[in-house]
Amino acid sequence: MKLLITGGAGFVGGHLSERLLKAGHSVHVIDDLSTGSINNISHLKDSPDFSYTIESVDNVQLMAELVDEADMIYHLAAAVGVQLIVDSPIRALETNIRLTEIVLNLASKKGKPVLFTSTSEVYGKSQALPFAEDGDLTFGATDKGRWAYACSKAIDEFLALAYYRERGLPTVTFRLFNTVGPRQTGRYGMVIPRLVSQALSGRPLTVYGDGEQRRCFCHVSDTVEALVGMLEVETAYGRVFNVGSQEETSIVDLARRIIDRTNSESEIVFVPYEEAYERGFEDMERRIPDLTRVGEEIGWQTSRDLNEIIDDVVAYTQFSSGTATAV
Ligand code: UDP
Repeated sequence: MKLLITGGAGFVGGHLSERLLKAGHSVHVIDDLSTGSINNISHLKDSPDFSYTIESVDNVQLMAELVDEADMIYHLAAAVGVQLIVDSPIRALETNIRLTEIVLNLASKKGKPVLFTSTSEVYGKSQALPFAEDGDLTFGATDKGRWAYACSKAIDEFLALAYYRERGLPTVTFRLFNTVGPRQTGRYGMVIPRLVSQALSGRPLTVYGDGEQRRCFCHVSDTVEALVGMLEVETAYGRVFNVGSQEETSIVDLARRIIDRTNSESEIVFVPYEEAYERGFEDMERRIPDLTRVGEEIGWQTSRDLNEIIDDVVAYTQFSSGTATAV
């Protein structure tokens, strides 16, 4: 199949491209490198089945051509990372909503299926653990910047479902829970590359709040298996799927584990949320996916635990020490 990946030079997009090429598909990436990097796809350039365009999805004429040429579209282009969202809310809101509108609109004209990545952030402050796809979404007040991201991605989900119901466009929505692995940058806030880089360079590990907030981290290679596994699964059309790990850790324990596994001399410092992000910042206490639906649909489950994830990120960070100092 010929697959078009928007945001294909992002952290997840690069891994997805690689996996699809390995499966024998041809891949075209469109990415404006706003948060992505050519380093995420440079190792794929020699493949005859791989091509890319450095441009924004906003270029509707170009996108129309690319959609025409593709059999299916993975829509990953988005503004991501809590730090980025809090610092640049206009960019986050406008990018996330407008680009999804463009992709769905063009795809529906040609009847090309769209597989779209949303985020576990949409569950907001819900306490109904584990989070199930049909559960309520609970956002905070609009003056708390972080919720802009959740709302923008929830609107994208509504749009994908609306195009499916009203125009018959095949769409599949993935809610990705904290996804980690080699090549992820800590520049936009992601905790594991940040803490690993701090531990390896002997700097203090910055744990935000009291560190008792908990997360489940999923290796990107597992995540992309779910994305690829859903290709051509017609029973998935018009549905939403959680994709993530259920192995939970508090952030302070994560920091301790990273220090331990890197034999680092670094200390842990606790940084108040308002210093790390903004005044009145609200974090999510816990976030665990209910994986029943994706399991039933394609038999997907994770294969790598947190220690393997950390070791993989450590190995990558040591290998590319240029990246290590960048966060
Ligand atoms: N975090 C932290 N130190 C950092 C970066 C993040 O303690 O240097 C915390 C953050 O406040 C959150 C958790 O780690 O509670 C996961 O953050 P990330 O940005 O990776 O993903 P989120 O779950 O917030 O989308």
